[in-house]
Amino acid sequence: MITWKETGGYNAYVAAPTLPKYYDVRLAPAVAGDKGPRKTIPPGLDALQGFVDQVVLHYDNSGLSQLCFAALRQRGLSAHFLVDIDGTVYQTLDLQERALHATTSNSRSLGIEIANFGAYPPKDARMLAKWYQPDAAGRTRIMPPKEIRDPRIHTPGFVGRPARPEPVRGRIHGQELVQYDYTPEQYAALAKLTAALCRVFPRIPCDYPRDAAGRPLLRKLPDAVLEKYRGILGHWHVQENKIDPGPAFDWDRLIEGARAAGKPPAGPEPAVASASSR
Ligand SMILES: [Zn+2]
Repeated sequence: MITWKETGGYNAYVAAPTLPKYYDVRLAPAVAGDKGPRKTIPPGLDALQGFVDQVVLHYDNSGLSQLCFAALRQRGLSAHFLVDIDGTVYQTLDLQERALHATTSNSRSLGIEIANFGAYPPKDARMLAKWYQPDAAGRTRIMPPKEIRDPRIHTPGFVGRPARPEPVRGRIHGQELVQYDYTPEQYAALAKLTAALCRVFPRIPCDYPRDAAGRPLLRKLPDAVLEKYRGILGHWHVQENKIDPGPAFDWDRLIEGARAAGKPPAGPEPAVASASSR
């Protein structure tokens, strides 16, 4: 984990983040400190633990955390964490802050942007070739376009490969999409991060929205359900106009990994007791 205070980190508080000169990024004013209900709770972990009850997962559509951070700043948005393709986790601002990443869930949630080039309708699947190419041995690897001269990947010499070598097809909101999976390093990092967040914030159960059969719900949660929902969820569960983290995201791999990593309370309800006993 590299925080916003460290060299090589991404700082959502400053007006001029340290990005390579070749990015022509029109910087929005610093977005940390945004006014929202989160600002009305007293500072400190105790109050935050009684308030934060969701983690919203996104893909960044940028492919690399460096580009993600630039894109967020350009759009006046923010997220607490970025997870790069090598599994490096960047924290861009204090969890006390309300980040701008998921509309109605901003105040109550923590936001995680996972580096991934994104999901596309099958007719646009050729877009994926911009970032994913077979290597000499025919194995799919992540190949950032040449114009990105310094991808700023923290792990020296890192070669990123999707956890599944073929593009994954699936439907979100009934829309057919194709997307390459995240890297094993990202799943491992996300599992640890999720375990830590579920442990620190007892109102966040370590589970995702499920359908009647117990499988990942591939639609937005109805408003009334979303209002009561506590746990991990995807951006598409919050907004009908969003499809991230996409059909390739392996919810069971994340949750099983997180439960193994942290043994946080499982299932949607156990955290009620610990939250109400506070
Ligand atoms: Zn999103």
